[in-house]
Amino acid sequence: MMNPFPSMAQAFALLVQEQKQREFKSNPHTFAESFPLNASSSGGVCFSVGTGGLISGGGLDALTRKFVLAADNVVDARVMDVNGNILDREMNEDLFWAVRGGREASFGVILAWKLKLVRVPEKVTIFSIHRRLNSSRDLLQKWENISHQLPENLLIRLLIQNGGVERQVELFFQSQYLGPVDELIPLLRKYFPNFNLEQNDCFQENTTAGLLDKTIPTQKHYYKGTSDFVKTSIPESGWEMIERTFLEEAGPRMILEPLGGKVNEISESETVFPHRKGNLYNIQCTAGWSDNSESISSQKMAWLRKLYKEMEPYVAKSPRTAYLNYRDLDFGTNQEDYSYSEAKMWGEKYFNGNFERLAKVKSKDIGGCPKKAFECKGSSLETVFADMGIWYQAK
Ligand SMILES: Cc1cc2nc3c(=O)[nH]c(=O)nc-3n(C[C@H](O)[C@H](O)[C@H](O)COP(=O)(O)OP(=O)(O)OC[C@H]3O[C@@H](n4cnc5c(N)ncnc54)[C@H](O)[C@@H]3O)c2cc1C
Repeated sequence: MMNPFPSMAQAFALLVQEQKQREFKSNPHTFAESFPLNASSSGGVCFSVGTGGLISGGGLDALTRKFVLAADNVVDARVMDVNGNILDREMNEDLFWAVRGGREASFGVILAWKLKLVRVPEKVTIFSIHRRLNSSRDLLQKWENISHQLPENLLIRLLIQNGGVERQVELFFQSQYLGPVDELIPLLRKYFPNFNLEQNDCFQENTTAGLLDKTIPTQKHYYKGTSDFVKTSIPESGWEMIERTFLEEAGPRMILEPLGGKVNEISESETVFPHRKGNLYNIQCTAGWSDNSESISSQKMAWLRKLYKEMEPYVAKSPRTAYLNYRDLDFGTNQEDYSYSEAKMWGEKYFNGNFERLAKVKSKDIGGCPKKAFECKGSSLETVFADMGIWYQAK
């Protein structure tokens, strides 16, 4: 049987068996390049993602419910500011707060992260259970109600897609358990007896060996993504809408990542990522294509925008929140006449109540944004805030 969850397995390569160091410094390249074996911190689930963007935008992964976000595990950072000064936490605590989730490109260049490492067991177990959405509503409802409350060693995320020759909306319950398979089976029988999971449905991986196969894709692939956070379970009508909309398009994906666990033990303002207690899970929805002609890309993006609109009643509101690392340029981008109040419209989606503090940090003229930082000497939020890097993304 093929490993159903290769990207996560690659992330497992970063886990620790023998932890001799409690912390170390990494260059801001990819995790796999930066981390020696036998050293780990929480990070993303894809091999090609760099530590620069991932950590400074939050960093959700399969370890998050137990070991929180990558940004939460930063104990220090070396940052070059716009004037070429190299700063660390002791020299500027506000800047240190801002780069852990507020997107470092807005504030300077990260030269190094210093990360707290975590201990993980020698064995991790992985499985993926496949079902069809139209016959698994009860299972879906159960997953929504308990996935954020499961023991922290157990992560079950949900991938929804409309793939294959036969148009069917499929569910993949993808799981990582921090422990051996014989511990996992009784847990699954308790929480998800309908999975009927047996030992030979699982992969048991040794966290110190054999996981560093590099599989960086060589083919170009295009996609547009959106994200949301969910605070109350999606009702039957919502799942019907999702199924109907997925059946209209080939190849869309929705990934639901449970929160809860240790994520809830950190306050909304301790680091910049505010989506803590009260959120059940995060949704990332993507439409992808390989033929980048105008007609195909417009069709895929229109489909995703329609789904985003229809999801509104079912997701967090006031503001409708989103995860910075899955940012959606439809929220807005800076024009020449940008302003703090305009940036706030989308800034609060990502940062909620932390947006204003980020703006204040920025207004202290420590910005490193390539375009405007040198011009922004003023102290009012209106004049300085909008040069935060994330708002320079091209559409
Ligand atoms: C295939 C794929 C899988 C993903 N999986 C996950 C996941 O599991 N969890 C998750 O949380 N996110 C995930 N993401 C989202 C990812 O975290 C963001 O796209 C992130 O911005 C990527 O960072 P990067 O450094 O690789 O990208 P880049 O595009 O190189 O950088 C992103 C931004 O950060 C700036 N930047 C990068 N390094 C530095 C630095 N050292 N100093 C200053 N500025 C810098 C860049 O200028 C740019 O503005 C995924 C993305 C992809 C494409």
